[in-house]
Amino acid sequence: MLEPQNLTPSTAGALRRLTLFTGSSPGRDPRYAAAVRDLAAELAGRGVGVVYGGGRVGLMGEVADAALAGGGEVLGVMPQALVDGEIAHPGLTRLEVVADMHERKLRMGELGDGFVALPGGAGTLEELFEVWTWQQLGIHAKPVALYDVGGFWQPLLAMVDHMVAEGFLASAYRDALVVADTPAALLDALEAWRAPAAKWGR
Ligand code: AMP
Repeated sequence: MLEPQNLTPSTAGALRRLTLFTGSSPGRDPRYAAAVRDLAAELAGRGVGVVYGGGRVGLMGEVADAALAGGGEVLGVMPQALVDGEIAHPGLTRLEVVADMHERKLRMGELGDGFVALPGGAGTLEELFEVWTWQQLGIHAKPVALYDVGGFWQPLLAMVDHMVAEGFLASAYRDALVVADTPAALLDALEAWRAPAAKWGR
């Protein structure tokens, strides 16, 4: 069983690398790919490296291509079983091939100083919820953000607000989620972020 001991808190403001979760599909609207490229360019421009799932397909491929084109560092983490299906990106700074999905997420968690969900599907949501719940439990103290391209995340945020209203989620954890619709606002908020108190007082 893998243990998340290495997900130590990051120093506030020191973003060396961000872990990005995003779709293995491109989405219906070309503005998703355009917005993802804008974010990758901003990261490269600020000298912030990218950690992601390592694929060449969909928005995953877009973000990697754009960060590399901007001269940025891009680290991919992919289970062997997906190297063919998601088509491992051939031009990354480094591709780590790991045993399984659990090791992938652990490694992506270790390598990034914060996490950003870009538009995506069920896999993106699964990855987002794991890092956000681990933040609530105090397993790590790194920021978790939603890049809200064209209001993509608003339906999810409505559900999160419903959880708060119904008494299933403390508003501090809703407030700890960074939500921004431009790359500059997103990165500024991530750099200024401070961790909330952990749920069980750790
Ligand atoms: P999707 O948003 O469904 O297109 O998936 C985006 C990425 O999430 C892909 O690289 C998937 O392989 C990955 N993914 C899906 N489920 C999981 C999981 N349980 N653990 C880790 N990665 C996953």
